[in-house]
Amino acid sequence: MSSDIVCASCGRSVDAHNQHYRFTLPDPVLDTPEREHAEGTWMSDADANRSVLLQVPNVGPFVRALLPVKLTGGFALTFGVWLAVHPEDLQRAARVWHQPEYSDLVLDGWLANALPVWGLLACPVRAVVRVMEHTPYCSESANAKMNSVLTDELPHDLILSAVTTR
Ligand SMILES: [Zn+2]
Repeated sequence: MSSDIVCASCGRSVDAHNQHYRFTLPDPVLDTPEREHAEGTWMSDADANRSVLLQVPNVGPFVRALLPVKLTGGFALTFGVWLAVHPEDLQRAARVWHQPEYSDLVLDGWLANALPVWGLLACPVRAVVRVMEHTPYCSESANAKMNSVLTDELPHDLILSAVTTR
């Protein structure tokens, strides 16, 4: 049921402000002709949208992560992104994913999806586990622009327009 309470600052329904945007595939996989159907592809689930771990031959290993963005007005937008990781980090993640040790998992990878507004494809990013039931969260980056996306409160009108016109 959609609420008809309207945001005073941008005029959208307030329901539109806490969104989750999940990328189905890493951009480098999307750019190949066979995508996740390439021979030798391994996924942690039956389809790419549900998978959290993915390895595509000649493209690379990927792990899902959450990238939460704080918006003005106390709202948030969470991107379900893919990170490109080292092959041994994919193995390490797969080993602990359903174990108590998952809580200590730290991954240093590269953003494998271009975000609306900022881009940042291939930007280095560290992901850590904050909630056992969730994929790791992007937490910090050596890149100043990425760090600002991860930590600053961003103007929600700009961000929501960019996401809803995709
Ligand atoms: Zn608004």
